[in-house]
Amino acid sequence: EVARSPEIQEIRLGLPIVAEEQKIMEAIYNHRVVVIWGATGSGKTTQVPQFLYEAGFGNPSSPNPGMIGITQPRRVAAVSMANRVCDELNSAKEKIAYQIRFDSSVSSKTAIKFMTDGILIREIANDFALLKYSVIIIDEAHERSANTDILIGMVSRIVDLRASMSKEDAQIKPLKLVIMSATLRISDFLENPNLFRSGAPPMVQVEGRQYPVTIHFARKTQRDYVDEAFHKVCRGHKKLPPGGMLVFLTGQNEITTLVKRLKEAFSNTEASQTAGHKVRLTASDAPLETEDLELGIGDSRYDDVGEVDEEEDDIFVEDDQEFDLEDPAPASSKIRVLPLYSQLQTKDQLRVFEPPPENTRLIVLATNVAETSLTIPGIRYVFDTGRGKERKYDRLTGVQSFEVGWISKASASQRAGRAGRTGPGHCYRLYSSAVYERDFEEHAEPEILRMPVEGVVLQLKSMDLQHVVNFPFPTPPDRRSLAQAEKLLSYLGALSPEGKITDVGRELSNYPLSPRFSKMLTIGHQHDCMPYTVALVAALATPSIFIPENQLDLSAPPKPEIYTTADRLADESRTKLKSAYNHAHHLYSRHSSTSDALKLLTALCAYAHAPSKPTFCEQMFLHPKALAEATLLRSQLSSLIHNNNPSLLPNPHQLDLPSPSKTQISALQQFTAAAFIDQIAIHHSLHPNPPDLPRTPKRAIDVPYLPLFPINQTRTSTPDLTEIAVFIHPSSILAHTPIKDLPTYIVYSHLQRAAPSTISTNESETKT
Ligand code: ADP
Ligand code: MG
Repeated sequence: EVARSPEIQEIRLGLPIVAEEQKIMEAIYNHRVVVIWGATGSGKTTQVPQFLYEAGFGNPSSPNPGMIGITQPRRVAAVSMANRVCDELNSAKEKIAYQIRFDSSVSSKTAIKFMTDGILIREIANDFALLKYSVIIIDEAHERSANTDILIGMVSRIVDLRASMSKEDAQIKPLKLVIMSATLRISDFLENPNLFRSGAPPMVQVEGRQYPVTIHFARKTQRDYVDEAFHKVCRGHKKLPPGGMLVFLTGQNEITTLVKRLKEAFSNTEASQTAGHKVRLTASDAPLETEDLELGIGDSRYDDVGEVDEEEDDIFVEDDQEFDLEDPAPASSKIRVLPLYSQLQTKDQLRVFEPPPENTRLIVLATNVAETSLTIPGIRYVFDTGRGKERKYDRLTGVQSFEVGWISKASASQRAGRAGRTGPGHCYRLYSSAVYERDFEEHAEPEILRMPVEGVVLQLKSMDLQHVVNFPFPTPPDRRSLAQAEKLLSYLGALSPEGKITDVGRELSNYPLSPRFSKMLTIGHQHDCMPYTVALVAALATPSIFIPENQLDLSAPPKPEIYTTADRLADESRTKLKSAYNHAHHLYSRHSSTSDALKLLTALCAYAHAPSKPTFCEQMFLHPKALAEATLLRSQLSSLIHNNNPSLLPNPHQLDLPSPSKTQISALQQFTAAAFIDQIAIHHSLHPNPPDLPRTPKRAIDVPYLPLFPINQTRTSTPDLTEIAVFIHPSSILAHTPIKDLPTYIVYSHLQRAAPSTISTNESETKT
């Protein structure tokens, strides 16, 4: 039935995995779950689906009628791999399809379906047993993306479920799971008995065919690595023998810039048209891929890269990476410069696989997608900037950012390996071995451990999972925090009383924030508050906006014996500073005398009005960096909401807002309370069982409040006050309130355990 062209036949025979076809198929027949480990380029992604197809999987009249589903962490790979298999399986074109966000070629004839992991996660929500499939292949498992890890856990359970279903109903066929990985990065979870109940799955290893790659470290690590890449590639093209070049960069902007520069530098480039289009982040889109996002967050982590490079004992250093001169490319040789990133149109992506015309050097500028997902033929030289774009999370606030950072040593080695596919190659690392040793981690940590747990729980709930705590994670996050996250989500209305995801829950998952703040954004349009709510969320999500009073050095030294003029001046200036400080905070409190949250909002909005930001921060006792960050977050959230629904926020760029009305002020306080609904405490005297106080409080910060959701499980019936009560933090606006005016309830954003001291109390920081 299968007819392949002679050329394809020959290429296939050269792939290491083809020699293992029988071993792989036997393992799949004999086991529910099989792991395939083989180096990048050994043929896993293109060949394993074809082995299965030829064995009858996906054929409606076979014992395994369901489709062959194969997941990829990136869209580029899903589409181009489907295309490649389509070309290889010449005779059965209509059997192969792909599905990515907003684009699908799936039909009733589809037998092999390539898709992103996000797509399969959503399918599980609608068809928990994945009845459409007879086998699921989870590819690139070594990347340990959160989606991949979740799928491995989920599908391993579905495999068991299908086995028992098929025992009861002969119409239902079992499901197979194949996990494919380019490295041994997955070995840690193969032994996990929670994940694979009947023992570790068999692993079929495919011998890689890898030629030696010579690694050249740079002597210095330049901060402007795009510029550095430009110079290295230019020199390399002039001096290096023929062979394709692959340059690793971090994102679309860098790539398009460098494509342009290289084309300008070499007038003898072949003409080509590569129109890039800029991506906008919208909340209605499922999560974009990290490399797609150009959010313009500055990164200061490389400020010190120069220092360590001067070390003498840098044994790998080559003399300024001079290229060897034997047999250089003819001076006349042309270049073909091609970009490769996720948002590139499919037909442009596929150009990297076309052989370049004679006497033309292929130069591919790629994101991480070329690290293991795609193998570009003919690459002999790799230029590795050592950087990659990573999704970062702030654990407390859930704020996501996309930062350029150093890759891991494992990634660097994968990148270098791309030069040794067709013959011996060279990898030019644009960083020194000292930086590599000092700053590169062995492996990147699995994404699931870096994400805020609420996000993970929300994702699992979106698949209709009942018991998140029992979920077989390959690398489990902390169980207690999973349970807590589930509770929080139900308080916020994201989960129904039965623990199922609600419409609110789906809405919350659209924002790159902790669900508390997302909650504020979903209700914050009431009373025309949207622009204020966005600013409020940005302010609450940014730590240390105010310079605390104790950092001002206001305390007077002990009175000296001789009181000099200098002492007097110092005293006076302290008094002045103190009154300026009080004045600033008085201004921040002008909308509310009881709310720290509104103080933050007022400060951020005042900052937006200020003509000179540095002067304003200095005079008004604000941290400039925190204000800049909060403003950036504010703009990003504004654009996101506007793009998703323009009527909610018609003017996203307006940051200087008029003062909010009384109604708006009280609405904003209500939104905040809704987000911290589980963190409300009642004045001790109003509690149904008021506790005994050891002494009468003299200051507001000594007045106990009792959380409505207890903070500690106490075993004794008469627990110590410090175990069950919270107190107002000295930095809170409420700290100086006369005791008789203290509010009945306080809402707090976080608790801080007081350092053990003579006064044994818990202190809570309150944002009321
Ligand atoms: P693995 O998944 O093990 O990394 P692949 O199956 O992706 O390996 O690739 C096997 C081989 O097929 C590689 O040598 C690669 O160059 C080749 N290949 C993949 N896609 C294409 C394509 N679109 N055009 C030409 N060759 C391709
Ligand atoms: Mg692959």
